Amino acid sequence: METAGNGTGHVRMLLGAYVLGGLSQHEEYAVRAHLHRCAACRAEYDGLAEVPPLLDLLGEDARAGGPDDLAADPGDGGAGA
Ligand SMILES: [Zn+2]
Repeated sequence: METAGNGTGHVRMLLGAYVLGGLSQHEEYAVRAHLHRCAACRAEYDGLAEVPPLLDLLGEDARAGGPDDLAADPGDGGAGA
C-alpha cells in the first residue's frame, strides 16, 4: 500500500502521475491536500508542472495512435457504472 494521504508520507513519487493526470480521484485528492501543507513537495511539483506542455509537444505524433488504449486502467474496476 502507498503512504499517500496518511499525512506522514511525502507524495513526490506520485507527483509525476499527478501532473499527467494519471492518478485516481482519491490519490489526486490526497496529493493536492499534501501539497497544501508540504512546501518541499510543492517545490517538487512546481518543477514537474512544467513537464506536461513539453510532453504535449513531443507526443503529438503518439496521440494519433489513440492514447485511450494506454489510459485504460485495468485495476480501476472495469464493471463500469
Ligand atoms: Zn511532502
